[in-house]
Amino acid sequence: MLTLHNYINGAWLPPQQQQYFDNINPATGEVSGNIPDSDAADIEQAVAAAQAAFPQWSAMPPDMRAKHLLQLAAAIEHHLEHLAAAESADNGKPISVARSVDIPRAAANFRFFAQAVTQFSTETHHQPHFLNYTLRQPIGVVGCISPWNLPLYLFTWKIAPALAAGNCVVAKPSEITPVTAYLLSKLCEEVAFPKGVLNIVHGSGARAGQAIVEHRGIKAISFTGGTATGRKIAQTAAPLFKKISLELGGKNPALVFADCDFDATVSEITRSAFSNQGQICLCNSRIYVERSIYEPFKTAFIEKVKKLRTGNPALPDTQIGAVVSEAHRDKILSYIALAQQEGGQVLCGGTTATVEAPCQNGFFIQPTVIEGLTTQCRVNQEEIFGPVVTLQPFDTESEALMWANSSDYGLAATVWTQNLERAHRLAETLQSGIVWVNCWMHRDLRTPFGGVKHSGVGREGGFEALRFFTEAKNITIRY
Ligand code: NAP
Repeated sequence: MLTLHNYINGAWLPPQQQQYFDNINPATGEVSGNIPDSDAADIEQAVAAAQAAFPQWSAMPPDMRAKHLLQLAAAIEHHLEHLAAAESADNGKPISVARSVDIPRAAANFRFFAQAVTQFSTETHHQPHFLNYTLRQPIGVVGCISPWNLPLYLFTWKIAPALAAGNCVVAKPSEITPVTAYLLSKLCEEVAFPKGVLNIVHGSGARAGQAIVEHRGIKAISFTGGTATGRKIAQTAAPLFKKISLELGGKNPALVFADCDFDATVSEITRSAFSNQGQICLCNSRIYVERSIYEPFKTAFIEKVKKLRTGNPALPDTQIGAVVSEAHRDKILSYIALAQQEGGQVLCGGTTATVEAPCQNGFFIQPTVIEGLTTQCRVNQEEIFGPVVTLQPFDTESEALMWANSSDYGLAATVWTQNLERAHRLAETLQSGIVWVNCWMHRDLRTPFGGVKHSGVGREGGFEALRFFTEAKNITIRY
């Protein structure tokens, strides 16, 4: 049993109200620890620590701040195995995924923004007798709030640019998966990270998260999570004139054309649908296939999906682990039931998966493929965020495009074709922040990341993130 503490001003503190809730291991259903149920008083303490640390941290030359971030990156790499095991146990994801994706990426986030800030520059604008130059100054104390699906990966994706740009941070991981954020606080001590610069407060979104968004001393909010939560955050932050970056939900279409590289496409679509149990905002969930290859594609896809090994996330050959919680399992199952009410046929999966001890009480769902639904039905419009995808045949490119764009969401789309002209045409016309052609989730951290429509506001990644975490000030000199 691990009891977590808040990390404020370089010290581990219990929540002031001394209230905790249970942390549940989703693969076993058992309580694995206690999480502080922090409230506004704890956030107040964290903000005070961050404000006190800000003058020194923001005045530090970028290469010195970078040095501290690089030390954190190295510490994450050094403790990779421990962090990966903790992430897998906390989230239910296969250990192989935590080892190869989540934890290496957390280190890469610190490394990337450490390097980026040393290359970050500002503009000058010259007129006869006048010189304008732009200062990009850190904002002050900023809030970072992250979800449970890629816990340390997304937590550090926000914290790293905020710190690199010279801000001090009050951060809250999801209450559902807080352990690696807590372990990160231990690494801060190991590398003598300056106290008060990064403060990590655990607790529920409704109490601790809301208190971060409401706090007048917190000048910007970087949030990743669901669209409904993003809306609430925007409503709270707008009258306070805070900068906000919102990375929200998705309902991502895949457009598979008859001229695709068939075998590679079947493999990649399987990965894009079911990685992390379908709990990645970028996962493809609506798969549109050109009618002339619909039947062979369906047969090959189902065959591949049926071979995915669902099991104990701690075992190295497991490909599908547990979904994150009992409530989330029930939500996913309710969508499978809804799909059947809406006229869908379940081609594979469709129910819970039975896994041997010690996981007999865990929250497992078989990878599920459904066909026969309309584009407009709820299952094809609402985010399920689990191992459930739908298949639908299309006749023309314009029909596929119309269906792809017929969603309130617009995060990531994929196009599978050997026709270069078509690929460029669709890349331009898909209403989506990200388009991958013949690949999925290939990430270059320099590129802008984010969604359109209900998938978010603003962009993360590369210099976009450093711009978000700084205020531009123009200075005009007459000479
Ligand atoms: P969520 O319920 O919106 O929670 C996200 C974070 O916000 C958690 O830390 C949560 O705290 C906190 N929170 C909840 N209510 C809050 C409030 N009123 N004020 C401030 N913070 C609040 O989302 P989730 O279920 O964790 O994550 C799944 C969602 O995230 C999906 O919709 C997925 O698509 C989206 N996502 C988007 C991206 C992207 O880059 N666009 C990436 C990953 C995930 P607690 O959990 O502790 O309550």
